[in-house]
Amino acid sequence: MRPALLNPLFAPVTSLPGVGPKQDKLLRYLLGRSETPRLVDLLMHLPASVIDRRARPKIGEASPGTVVTLEVTVDRHRPSPPRNSRAPYLVYASDETGDVVLTFFRAKPGYVDKLLPVGAKRYVSGTLQFYDGMPQMVHPDRIVDEAAFAQLSGIDPVYPLTEGLALGSLRRAVGQALQKLPALPEWISPEVIRRCKFPPFAEALHRVHQPVELTDILPDGPFWSRLAFDELLAGQLALALIRSQLRRPAGDRNAGDGHLRRKIIDALPYALTASQREAVAAITDDLRQPVRMLRLLQGDVGSGKTVVALLAAAAVNEVGKQAALMAPTEILARQHIKTIAPLAERAGLRVAILTGREKGKERRDILARLAAGEIDLLVGTHALIQEDVVYRSLALAVVDEQHRFGVRERLALTSKGEAVDVLVLSATPIPRTLVLTYFGDMDVSELREKPAGRQPIDTRAVPLSRLEEVMEGAGRALKSGKRVYWICPLVEESEAEGTEHLTNATQRFESLQKHFGDAVGLMHGQMKGSEKDRVMAQFASGEIGLLVATTVVEVGVDVPAASIMVIENAERFGLAQLHQLRGRIGRGSEASTCLLLYREPLGEMSKARLNVIRETTDGFRIAEEDLRLRGEGDVLGVRQSGLPGYRVARSDVHGQLIAQAREEALRIMKKNPRLTGERGEALRCLLYLFERDEAVPLIGAG
Ligand code: ADP
Ligand code: MG
Repeated sequence: MRPALLNPLFAPVTSLPGVGPKQDKLLRYLLGRSETPRLVDLLMHLPASVIDRRARPKIGEASPGTVVTLEVTVDRHRPSPPRNSRAPYLVYASDETGDVVLTFFRAKPGYVDKLLPVGAKRYVSGTLQFYDGMPQMVHPDRIVDEAAFAQLSGIDPVYPLTEGLALGSLRRAVGQALQKLPALPEWISPEVIRRCKFPPFAEALHRVHQPVELTDILPDGPFWSRLAFDELLAGQLALALIRSQLRRPAGDRNAGDGHLRRKIIDALPYALTASQREAVAAITDDLRQPVRMLRLLQGDVGSGKTVVALLAAAAVNEVGKQAALMAPTEILARQHIKTIAPLAERAGLRVAILTGREKGKERRDILARLAAGEIDLLVGTHALIQEDVVYRSLALAVVDEQHRFGVRERLALTSKGEAVDVLVLSATPIPRTLVLTYFGDMDVSELREKPAGRQPIDTRAVPLSRLEEVMEGAGRALKSGKRVYWICPLVEESEAEGTEHLTNATQRFESLQKHFGDAVGLMHGQMKGSEKDRVMAQFASGEIGLLVATTVVEVGVDVPAASIMVIENAERFGLAQLHQLRGRIGRGSEASTCLLLYREPLGEMSKARLNVIRETTDGFRIAEEDLRLRGEGDVLGVRQSGLPGYRVARSDVHGQLIAQAREEALRIMKKNPRLTGERGEALRCLLYLFERDEAVPLIGAG
């Protein structure tokens, strides 16, 4: 249970005065949450820059185009003429050196009067301009009286925003949230505090949101760094806790004599690559050790992870135990079973699939066979970890496309057996430095080489204005019997802001169908599982030549005959996603082409992304470029944390801190693995604060 101390921070933002349903919706979007954000989410949204309002010139000395704070006396008002509401409402004010016009467009009646009563002294802050030779300030950012002015630091944080959300109202909400911050115990050890010169957590949070110096908001400054360290420490500690649980010695050895593996290898229509062989050897070795395996098999899309997983499963089957393979989507699970089943059969392995679709009697039968030990390898989705799924002797859990699963799911699967060995498959190439952040000190096997015979992919960026040509090209490809993916970002017209340009998959399907008739199919995430399978099967068999799809084909779908991919609105996709999508082609022996259709004008970031994708198919390089670009995105004020899943820490700035947080976590695990005592309590608090508390129940109440 979350310490009660933290409850105020987990109150919904709508509990703040002035934050209503409209704000709620905007904040969800801004903070990337599907539910109402909590105060803690707001507080972890850090400023991108500052506005310095400390310049306090006299009107006569102020330079145009700069942000200044003027001390003025209000002289007179000139409201908009009654019949011309588009003319601005003007307020004339002055000091002893001159006059300034304060300009308000579409001012609400009474609003300006109240802010700037005639005769009063006010401080107004904003960008000074000249209009008709006269100093002018349009919509001052701040208008305050003497008392309020005394409260201002003169430096305002500027936050990444979303359309419709005013900076002022976000600042107000953050300010209110800060006031709810409870006194929290210190969780970092005194040595680290001293060595890194970290300020206390509360001070750090206050200073980044209410900067006193311009440098207070810099990501590499002491305040942000402290917060980043906290977040990283929470992550590392959670991983260490989980690992210490998983690493309990396994009583049994889980690999047999290799007879099943040999049968499978003999049945393969290809030879394993050297790195596949190495990975299998490393895994088998782990399985033989009396310690649990915790291994990450990392390999770019198409590198052939599935067969490695199958061989690992066969190894535990050799000693009469069971294996499970969990995939994030039903399509993927079905595809795995399709590749695996024929091979497994040759070795006499009994495989089955369990997803949300197996229901009633069918499901009961599978569960009965599983419990009786009559299934050797169960492939499926989240359905594998439902409570009533009982294995007779689960010894190996393979988790595919790990980044889609949380720690919770990983744990749930491993708790279905005694000392289950864990193999995680990840297609998202993660630069080495980051593996640590996500997986702790897992052992890593890498499939760096592609299976032989793969052809390079020719990738080109094409403006949408050449759509006609692209369609004609697709038509020619279809005629010559090629298989084409056509990817669109969205299924239906969405009301989400800024998406009105995005091509809708259904619409594109209809227009392509007009040209090419029945050769065109459609697949999207809102279709039923069985529907998706049918379409996928038709595409795989060639019954459909052109498949219009949303990103449901992003992970793992394998149709080697597909050699052309068109990605619409490619500028909208992230690098990793483009790479994953493109990985669906170039899997067969035929040369492949990928066309990135983009809408002009192309922003700098999008241009950079498309260039990277055009230049390389090396997933590791792409991942590195991705991080680099995201880092720059932060500078541009785009909301992107360089580390997915981390809100404060950034790979480009806080790389050093990752290692230090890890060391600190290991020290804690050595000295106080059950997180007891005062410091233990404080650390639990940290885990809950950053929502890395999955492992806390494992260590008991302390
Ligand atoms: P991923 O690593 O993306 O999960 P898959 O396991 O789906 O890749 O494999 C991609 C394709 O490569 C599959 O069609 C598979 O049969 C094939 N494949 C796997 N290993 C080899 C190999 N050593 N030689 C040739 N083809 C292979
Ligand atoms: Mg795969």
